[in-house]
This record gives sequence, C-alpha cells and structure tokens, in this order.
Amino acid sequence: MDAPAAGAEESVRQGHPLIRAFTAEFDDYRHDESRSQGEAQSISFPQTEEDVCEVLRTLHGDHTPITVQGARTGLAAGAMPHGGHVLNLSRMNRCLGLRRDADGSFFLLVQPGVVLSELRKYLKGKSIPSAGWDESSLEALSALQDAPEQMFPTDPTEASACLGGMAACNASGARSFRYGPMRPHVTALRLALADGDVVDLRRGQVFARGRHLELSTEAGRTISVDLPTYDMPHAKNASGYFVQDDMDAIDLVIGSDGTLGVITQLELALMPTPPVIWGVSCFFADEHQALDATVGLRDEVASAAAIEYFDPASLDILRTQREQSTAFSALPLLAADAACCVYVELHCQDEDLALAELDRVGGIVERAGGSEAATWVARTELDRESLQFFRHAVPESVNMLIDARRRTDPAITKLGSDMSVPDDRLHDVIELYRTTLSAAGLEAAAWGHIGNNHLHVNVLPRSSEEYARGKALFGEWAREVTSMGGAVSAEHGVGKLKRDFLAIMYGEEHLREMARVKLAFDPYGQLGRGNLFDASLLEGGA
Ligand SMILES: Cc1cc2nc3c(=O)[nH]c(=O)nc-3n(C[C@H](O)[C@H](O)[C@H](O)COP(=O)(O)OP(=O)(O)OC[C@H]3O[C@@H](n4cnc5c(N)ncnc54)[C@H](O)[C@@H]3O)c2cc1C
Repeated sequence: MDAPAAGAEESVRQGHPLIRAFTAEFDDYRHDESRSQGEAQSISFPQTEEDVCEVLRTLHGDHTPITVQGARTGLAAGAMPHGGHVLNLSRMNRCLGLRRDADGSFFLLVQPGVVLSELRKYLKGKSIPSAGWDESSLEALSALQDAPEQMFPTDPTEASACLGGMAACNASGARSFRYGPMRPHVTALRLALADGDVVDLRRGQVFARGRHLELSTEAGRTISVDLPTYDMPHAKNASGYFVQDDMDAIDLVIGSDGTLGVITQLELALMPTPPVIWGVSCFFADEHQALDATVGLRDEVASAAAIEYFDPASLDILRTQREQSTAFSALPLLAADAACCVYVELHCQDEDLALAELDRVGGIVERAGGSEAATWVARTELDRESLQFFRHAVPESVNMLIDARRRTDPAITKLGSDMSVPDDRLHDVIELYRTTLSAAGLEAAAWGHIGNNHLHVNVLPRSSEEYARGKALFGEWAREVTSMGGAVSAEHGVGKLKRDFLAIMYGEEHLREMARVKLAFDPYGQLGRGNLFDASLLEGGA
C-alpha cells in the first residue's frame, strides 16, 4: 500500500507544496481493509513532523476535516476519509534513533509510517537504517548488534500495518495473550494537534489526578480535561478512550483511533526474542473439545504466548482454497476428520523447558479428546512460517469470498466481529454465537484469539438481505457481550463501523464525556471525523 510517486499535479491550495487535489490517482486512499469507501477533496504525504504540522496549520483555518492514514490495514473504517483531507503517513517511515537503558533494554524511536514487517526485518538482521542518528544512538546500535536478538511483540497478523496505526488502534493479535496489546510497549510519543501545536509524552511523566488531566503543549497552551467516568471491562479492550484513575497521559492517546491528534513519533520498547519458539496446532473433532483444551492451555501452560482458534467453517474455507487456487496450494493438507484447530505458541528459555511444556500440552489435548496424531509441532522458523501462512490465509480467503459475493450484490461488505468477554464467559459467548447464527440461518466462519475469549466471527452474507440480518445480529451480540462484562471492540478499534456498538457498551452519557475529551484536544472536531462519535455529539465544540 505504498504512496504513489510524488507527481506534478496542481496543489489543491494555491502554491501549497504538500496539499494535493484528491484526483482519481488516489482512489485507493478512499478505503482501508474494511472495504468501505469514503470521499476526500485533498491529500498529503508528509515526510516529517514539521510537514504534518504545516498541513494541520493550513487546514485549521477553515476547520477542514482530516483523516489520518497509516497503512490502511484497519478493519473498522477508521482510516476511511469522511470528506476533507487525507493525511497519509506512509512516507514517514524512518527509524530515528535507539536508546539503551541502565538495565540493558533497548528502545527504538520511529516515525509512525514504519511498517511492522520492515521493523521485524531490521531486528532480525540487527541492521537498522541509521542515517542521521546521533552518537548515543549509534552506540546503542552497536550494543544491539552484540546483544541477543530483539523483537517487538505486538503481532496484528497483518504485517503490512504500520507502527503509528497500530498505536492509534491499540492493536493486539495472537501474542497479546502473553504480552498484552500495543499500549505497554509504547514508551513515548509525540502528538501533533489539529492546530499544528505538539504534545510530547513520555511514559511515567504526566499523570491524571483521579479523572482530571492537564497537559502542556510545546506552544505553552494547557489542555485541561475531565476524563470519562466509566469503568473499563475486565476483558481485552480497544473500545473508545482508555481511562483509569490517576492514569498515565500517554495511555489516553494510544487507542484513540486518530481522533485526538496525529502521532508523529513513537518510542517502542524492544525485548529479547525467546530462544525457543514452538508452534503447536491441535486438531479436534468438535468445538466442545477445542474449548476444553483452550481452558486447560490457558490455566496450565505458563509459556503459552498465543492461543488461537479456527472453527470448522474456517478450516473448510482453507480446504476449498487449497483445491481451487494456486496462490493457496502451499497450504498444508488437513485430515478429513479435523473439524477445528487450537494453535498454541510456546515461548521458552531453553529446549528442556519447551519439551516439558509440550508434554503438558499433549496431556491437555488428550484429556479434551484430541490426540498426538492430530497435533502438528513446528519447531523451526520455516515450519512456523508455514503455520503463519495458514493463519493469515483464513481472513484473506474470507475477504476474497466477500469481494466475489459483492460482485453479485454491491451492498454486501465485510461483517466481522471483534468482541471479547472475561475468562469465565467463554463457553457462554460461543453458545450465543452458535445459537443465534443458526436461528438467523446465516453462514459464518469464526477464528482468532480464543485465549483472550476474543473471536472474529465473520458472517458470510449471500445477499443484502442476509447482510442486514447479520448486522442486526451484531447489535444483539454487542448488548449480550456488554452484559457479560465484555468489550464490543477488543483490538481493531471502533472507527466508523462500530460507533453504535460503543453507544451500547458505554451509553449516551459516557459517549458525551468522551466527546468532551476529544473537543478539548480538537475543538472543531477536525480529526478522524466519523470515528467513535457521530456528528451530533461534537456539536457545540469551540
Ligand atoms: C488480514 C488482517 C488481519 C488482521 N488481524 C489483526 C489482529 O490480529 N489484531 C489486530 O489488532 N489487528 C488486526 N488487523 C487490523 C489492522 O492490521 C490493525 O488495525 C492495524 O493496527 C492498523 O494499522 P494501519 O497502519 O494499517 O492503520 P490504518 O488502518 O491506516 O489506521 C487505523 C486507525 O488509526 C488512525 N491512525 C493511523 N495512523 C495514525 C497516526 N500516526 N496518528 C493518529 N492516528 C492514526 C487512523 O485514523 C485510523 O483510525 C488485521 C487486518 C487484516 C487486514
């Protein structure tokens, strides 16, 4: 999803070197991976924070709506423009420096457009582009080259996502079962505000007092805001603003879905790559067995870094793809009696520990009704890559299926859930999905982060009528999941597609509290318009 080469088309604002008319050449920038299409009048591809601030200052005068875009892999239409300007950060893709603290931990400073797959390549090769780095960063780089291999743990499956977008959504993914979401791994960031002023935040330095937060900008302004009063769910959560008593200010920005400001730099905490990483795929004859195994794995396998699930419909989709498409012919052949699969990834300090953990996994699988013969173990990186291909192939295949169905009925679009519940409600939520899907007569495939009680249930509508039925069902689930103490978005963010669910989860008054926070940062509601709030909530701003 690269930006097109800088062309010679006329600037949309007379003489402005950065802002260009949104011509047909930029059609791709009307959507993200949710496939919803938006509109815009102008676009820019800044390369530096100063460029970003310059564009923001220019557009602030007439309160132009601005949609921030990273790599547009988001699934909630957060990066889909809502009129006005598209601020695309894909050219802000430089690593800016490296820091090593007294404990020997490394912290990498990046621009927001650095792509996750590139970051992984740099860390694997211990070779980070360092042009323009200062002396202390170069020293840290030399120390990193002598140190054990480092990794960044957040793994949102789609490695073409960029770091700024991941922070804006508080992305998670498989390994968040062990390492948590993006939030704790971001130690500092810079946020450009709608008027071009900047807030610089470092973890551990600026805290709320109770639910009141005051922030100083670089121009000397104070943002003073009462934080919302809701309690967040005890479940994986990326729904609306993160708030807690006495919270660190940086945590409000992470997961704010492009509505408070533009993240122009972020510092990432790296960690040593575990010396032994094994992936274990356990196939079962039915879903109940898979759920029993999940609970056992979660409770008893301390080195489990990821516990993922693929339901019977997901495996059937893979079987079809393998037969029908050469692009998927490398997928492993699945046994006929393999109905569903639980994948567990073990991160261990040495092979002895990994063997002991593998033994434990084997015991749990057999207790649940599985067998060693129906379990694959990937011990090498090559084998794990093949499993990664397998895991990535499921959402990709579903997207392709939806695209094909859309050709017969343009009203059909992707309909995937992103809800989570607390641990003790896993069986209840699966029962909810199964009974309501069957009663509604809808085809669906479910997969995802079952270790966190967080599945992506994707309805596969064959007509606009089925699409409408599926959408109504998601509303019902949002209410049920909320009553179970869960979250309506666990990792993709609310964007534009889940605003109604956010209202179900927190209620109108708490939404108003969130909107007041937004207006304290962005008084004219320019940024991320349509994300989290509908327009009526932002009326009466500055
Ligand atoms: C096949 C597939 C699988 C996926 N699996 C997962 C998964 O397992 N876990 C998961 O968490 N996600 C998953 N995703 C979703 C997606 O990859 C993430 O949401 C990703 O974090 C978004 O990053 P991006 O750079 O593409 O952001 P974009 O899509 O460009 O933007 C996302 C949001 O962030 C805002 N934004 C972007 N950059 C900035 C910035 N610098 N400052 C302020 N706001 C900004 C945008 O306005 C928008 O609201 C998946 C996506 C696909 C296509």
